[in-house]
Amino acid sequence: MEKKIVKTENLSFKLSEIPLTKKGLKNLLNYRIPCLCCGLEMLHPDIYSKLMLKNELSGTATGVIHILQPLENIMHPVERQVFNMFKSMSAKYPDKNFKELLLLKKEVHELALVKIQSAIFNKISFYRRILPKNVARQLRKLMIKTNDIIFDPVPHKPFSRKIFINKIKNIIKNVENKKLKEEILEYARRLPRSSDEVCAFVVKNTRKPSNIIALNLIHSAVGTFEHLQPKCMNGMNNSLNFALECSYCNNSRHHFPITVQIEENPFMPQNAQTQIEKLISLYRRGLCKKEYIINLKQILFTLSEGIIDLDTTRLNY
Ligand SMILES: [Zn+2]
Repeated sequence: MEKKIVKTENLSFKLSEIPLTKKGLKNLLNYRIPCLCCGLEMLHPDIYSKLMLKNELSGTATGVIHILQPLENIMHPVERQVFNMFKSMSAKYPDKNFKELLLLKKEVHELALVKIQSAIFNKISFYRRILPKNVARQLRKLMIKTNDIIFDPVPHKPFSRKIFINKIKNIIKNVENKKLKEEILEYARRLPRSSDEVCAFVVKNTRKPSNIIALNLIHSAVGTFEHLQPKCMNGMNNSLNFALECSYCNNSRHHFPITVQIEENPFMPQNAQTQIEKLISLYRRGLCKKEYIINLKQILFTLSEGIIDLDTTRLNY
């Protein structure tokens, strides 16, 4: 699928007044709001900021586990698995910190990661047979370089999924066959990220200091303001254009339109409904503004081209 920025101008906001200040919107994150996109419960950003100041996060794993334990239920699945791995390892190595524990696991996870990556690279290399000659030549070059990185136990520079995908995009940009292009990109996107494979999380984080590893266990769950209409498309910088989304989903969307975000997260319409139900419950307790909810429903409907059609009938009784 070709990622294109669809301009959704003429989006007229019916409200002239901003129903919620940014502070008011942020306050909602005190009430276990599920992410608009993935549906996972979000963490208030102030809790995260306070954790950032704690020097203890660089200390022994046992101490850090004690600090993070109350947040285990908001960790995303991969992060929670790593946290549990830390728990069992720290019983055996009580004096080691997170980084030292990850280094003990590095080799086995690195091998697991290379296995997944090389299977995907093989699939991509196959397209050398059917791509135009000059494109195939560039692809061959990239794959040789990439294999050099992943098969070298001590690479000069670590492999970067993001850079690899950008290079692939660049190589195939002039290929006319859209289906072929999309197939190649689809394989590239299957390369594991630290958010979806424990081995990728371990390998990436062995390069970080202990306190950052600790913060990375909860970072994805931190609540953020997602610009519904991206800033680059003149999206406004106030709560009429903000939805609450976890930092993982917010970062993965980049500046793509919501329709693309839904393609990559097919459960987003249901998850958005769960969020709006929660907001309606808060409205009934006097904690959220009705106008914000109505506005959110309307904007999501317009920007998603009708795919996200939220039911807000509970607002009226
Ligand atoms: Zn999310």
